[in-house]
Amino acid sequence: MRGFREIVVISGKGGTGKTSVCAAFAALARKAVVCDLDVDVPDLHIVLSPTPRETHDFLGGNKAVIDQQACVQCGQCRELCRFGAVLERDGSFEVDTLACEGCGVCQTLCPQQAIAFPEALCGTWSVSATRFGTLVHAQLVPGQENSGKLVQVLKTRAREEAEKEGASILLCDGSPGIGCPVIASLSGASLACAVVEPTLSGLHDFQRVAGVCRQFRIPVAVIVNRADLNPEAAGEFRKLCSREGHAFLGEIPFDPAFPQACVQGLAVTERDGPCQRRIRQIWDRLLALDPAALRGQRQGPLLKPLS
Ligand code: SF4
Ligand code: SF4
Repeated sequence: MRGFREIVVISGKGGTGKTSVCAAFAALARKAVVCDLDVDVPDLHIVLSPTPRETHDFLGGNKAVIDQQACVQCGQCRELCRFGAVLERDGSFEVDTLACEGCGVCQTLCPQQAIAFPEALCGTWSVSATRFGTLVHAQLVPGQENSGKLVQVLKTRAREEAEKEGASILLCDGSPGIGCPVIASLSGASLACAVVEPTLSGLHDFQRVAGVCRQFRIPVAVIVNRADLNPEAAGEFRKLCSREGHAFLGEIPFDPAFPQACVQGLAVTERDGPCQRRIRQIWDRLLALDPAALRGQRQGPLLKPLS
């Protein structure tokens, strides 16, 4: 059994304040390893200002490359490529790496064996030191995919770091939405902590991501951000949590301290104020959730709803 809880902060969609809340938690956590799994748009590093201890290439997927010396310009590869990735320029052929889907057909059928199929550099990932402890994070090359695979790489390494450091918490900033990266983010998590916005569409987005968590039997806790902008919708979240057995952790009011802290490169909980005290309270509630339920050892509702 792991010696740490793996908490993945998620949102049904972008723009709910997920990363700001995650950074605020990172500042409050003691003995935590932090991992930025939002690999398509990573921005936790803006607040955490990491100093890399080690950096690695992330290779993923193969791309066709034509050897111009061996090519006899027969044009078969261009005809065979159903993605339109082989371009002809002044009688010679080359592959548009952004359009190449890596199917390998051109390489297999080129009569001159003039096409190589190397692994492509999709990005880099690092293990870094920050003022809050270790951060595992990555940067994808723009336009590159395989973000689900990169999430797996980061999680594996972050878990190793958490074990090595004897951390009690692995705090992950998950991907927004419900696609492949968020499913990869959630796999093996102890708890999904959803940061949601109080709107009708926010409620709908949350229900979709909560459905994904249910499939993987991952308990869900909910924080409504900017709750005072729509108290009625915030109340709907509270009722939904009570109905579905999610833990309602609390509401954060709209507070300009959030963007101000971000501009200064700080987590909002590095300063004191009413909003910061509310987040501390939410963090304490999160830590107090029933560990047996988190490990799936108790039957019935996964978590007792908190008042
Ligand atoms: S199929 Fe091979 S030889 Fe023909 S154009 Fe393409 S790379 Fe060149
Ligand atoms: S590997 Fe597939 S997608 Fe890429 S250029 Fe060749 S045929 Fe087209």
